[in-house]
Amino acid sequence: MKIFSDERLLGLGVISGTVSRHTGSGREAQNVKKFFDTLDIDSANILGLRQVHGAHIVPIISGEDLKNYRKTAMHEGDAWLLGRAGCGCMILTADCAPLYVWNDRGICVGLAHCGWRGVAAGLPRKIAEDIKIRAGKNVRLCAYIGPHINACCFEVREDAAGQFGQRALVKKGGKIFVDLAAEITAQLLSAGADAKDIRRECACNCTMCNKEDFFSYRRDKTRDTMISFIYKPA
Ligand SMILES: [Zn+2]
Repeated sequence: MKIFSDERLLGLGVISGTVSRHTGSGREAQNVKKFFDTLDIDSANILGLRQVHGAHIVPIISGEDLKNYRKTAMHEGDAWLLGRAGCGCMILTADCAPLYVWNDRGICVGLAHCGWRGVAAGLPRKIAEDIKIRAGKNVRLCAYIGPHINACCFEVREDAAGQFGQRALVKKGGKIFVDLAAEITAQLLSAGADAKDIRRECACNCTMCNKEDFFSYRRDKTRDTMISFIYKPA
């Protein structure tokens, strides 16, 4: 098992990362439990979402937020904003980009499921701006774009390509490819992040190219997904 993560988050006391396929599909509750057991984290404290490829962000900042979340059977949304300790949040991806965004003091840590629809709907920008609202306008935004399908493989039709600006499109041999990380980066910059604070997983870790480490919906037409999570110890 490998965990793809950014050590800057660990420096703030946040355990996080995107877990390789060796742990099994994140859709199976037993795999999720087994994985968090290896980290000595009670999986009952890891919250999940019903992802719908939108731009809705679920905040878990106050005790009230957590209570509201627990009251509802299944939350729809594609991103988290975590402020509470003793609590963690999870998303599932298999080609979409897991995006981690936080302020340099770690007051708010965001995790977003960024497929092309969510990105086209402005989710990366929205989560960065949400952090600024909660942590202060002058915070320094930091981000890590985890393993996802890269421009080498992410071919799209004209209608999907039309959702993006030229900055995210790569044209090769009459085909159009989307560079999700380029678009996510552009949105974070427009929200006030500095380029040097945005890191992306190596393009060599494209989920479609790297079969050993990742599930890929495009490659295998599978429903199996990798776990991405953030957790603030109590
Ligand atoms: Zn690839």
